[in-house]
Amino acid sequence: MVRASQVSKSFGSIEVLRSIDLEVAKGEVACIIGPSGSGKSTFLRCINHLEQINAGRLWVDGVLMGYRQRGDKLYEMKPKDIAAQRRQIGMVFQRFNLFPHKTALENVMEAPTQVGGLSRREATAKAEELLDRVGLAERMKMYPSQLSGGQQQRVAIARALAMEPKLMLFDEPTSALDPELVGDVLDTMKELAQSGMTMIVVTHEMGFAREVGDSLVFMDDGYIVESGHPREVLGNPQHARTQAFLSKVL
Ligand code: ADP
Ligand code: MG
Repeated sequence: MVRASQVSKSFGSIEVLRSIDLEVAKGEVACIIGPSGSGKSTFLRCINHLEQINAGRLWVDGVLMGYRQRGDKLYEMKPKDIAAQRRQIGMVFQRFNLFPHKTALENVMEAPTQVGGLSRREATAKAEELLDRVGLAERMKMYPSQLSGGQQQRVAIARALAMEPKLMLFDEPTSALDPELVGDVLDTMKELAQSGMTMIVVTHEMGFAREVGDSLVFMDDGYIVESGHPREVLGNPQHARTQAFLSKVL
């Protein structure tokens, strides 16, 4: 579902991603861990076209991102075509960024009605189903300010799912939450994983990585230092940098 080949990204003279290679199969959950500033968010943002890569190639579901091939030449895509590619990818951030003046239901309906071409009736039915799925059937008419952080994050997950993405990216989705609210969000993500969604999850929740992840990637200083099955990477890290990081967080 995702293939990154020698993906590099710099901001000015700062190299943030250094020749990243990664594959995530359909239906798999890949977790990414690593110290602050190691390039985790930038990598997710590159997959979702929020940043443009400087070198390498990214494929999502077999489609080369950002380029169109004619003959044996590659051309950069037009913004409109990039937008269509981006719609296949859902993203959930640390901050939920819900519209404060819209209810939970209206937040989830926004994209399907504005860009997805659904009627209000269709979008309402879909939003109700999704909010029920994330455990918020009773709170659909509430505004973000009336919801806890964990509930807001579950609305954000439902909102991302409303466009029926092939791939979901999560960037530290529980890092801004009070500890007692983290579990419900992780449970929602676990159910999503069990439903077969392909997911890339940047997280500090090692329990989630161990239980739900099919693979675990450790990034440091723009490199993938090591990756493998979560139990292997967590239980038997091969590199000194991984060992040092894990000794601080486990
Ligand atoms: P992580 O998510 O692992 O904490 P980031 O991907 O956010 O790391 O950042 C990696 C590095 O890239 C950091 O040094 C950060 O300062 C830098 N960086 C991220 N975004 C930008 C940007 N838009 N402009 C300049 N530097 C950036
Ligand atoms: Mg980050």
